[in-house]
Amino acid sequence: MSSIRELQERAYQQSADKGFHDNEPTEGRALLSLNAERIALMHSELSEALEELRVGNHVAATYYYTEKPEKPEGVPSEMADVVIRVLDFCGANGIDLESIITEKLDYNASRTPMHGGKKF
Ligand SMILES: [Mg+2]
Repeated sequence: MSSIRELQERAYQQSADKGFHDNEPTEGRALLSLNAERIALMHSELSEALEELRVGNHVAATYYYTEKPEKPEGVPSEMADVVIRVLDFCGANGIDLESIITEKLDYNASRTPMHGGKKF
């Protein structure tokens, strides 16, 4: 089993090895735009998950096309894509995701039931 920190390093390194972090900006408007694009791509993976449901695939089903049998498809695979993009984003921006997840879970545990009456 891998920790979130280990998965973050793997996701970032794999992305870097494939050239996705070559010559990227490190500051200013260009970095802001790059990060906005990365967040948009996280949204796109959620949209792909929604499309899987819309065409009638079971929420927990992983399937494979015969033309590309090594590539998992389905909602679980799209959820993995979302997390991988989040991990890569955090790796690229020096965010310790594992640490902030723990901090947020601790904070949420301290909140009132239904977070003070919210419906969802
Ligand atoms: Mg995808």
